[in-house]
Amino acid sequence: MKVAIYPGSFDPITNGHLDIIHRASKVFDKVIVSILVNPEKKGLFSIDKRVELIKKVTKDCENVEVDSFQGLLVNFMNKKESKVIIKGLRTVSDFEYEFKMALMNNKLDSSIETVFMMANAKYSYVSSSSVKEVAMFGGSIEGLVPKEIIPDIKKQVSNK
Ligand code: ADP
Repeated sequence: MKVAIYPGSFDPITNGHLDIIHRASKVFDKVIVSILVNPEKKGLFSIDKRVELIKKVTKDCENVEVDSFQGLLVNFMNKKESKVIIKGLRTVSDFEYEFKMALMNNKLDSSIETVFMMANAKYSYVSSSSVKEVAMFGGSIEGLVPKEIIPDIKKQVSNK
């Protein structure tokens, strides 16, 4: 079974992420959306809430799972018996960063491949941080994130 890991912060999940998840789930038998826990970075949402939001918007995707991990991605992948990392590419700057990460992960475990998917043109400008910024200043985030999580984002930014 071909299991792919889609790692990221997902704080919160956006339509750009969801597009990559849908496309990857057609290519691989199983996709595990994996939230990187960074104890030094306090996000907008707790890890548990991020898991909940991703589960909510992927509930119809049978072969998509959601999990979180701390430490090296390659160690988590061994645990999950996965050899493939999925990454989305929006811009040249994404490429530069991801290229280095892919080489490092391959150095740590040469059996691991990183598969890049080009961002959907509709969402290539969307990032979690820009969504948070727009929401924080009262702008509309419709079309940028799944509809069903808009109330959660509005509520969370108003509590900050
Ligand atoms: P962000 O950069 O929005 O904070 P993450 O760090 O959670 O997002 O990103 C996780 C993965 O998803 C990375 O591979 C990133 O390149 C990809 N990604 C993020 N936003 C998009 C998008 N709009 N379209 C395609 N891929 C994306």
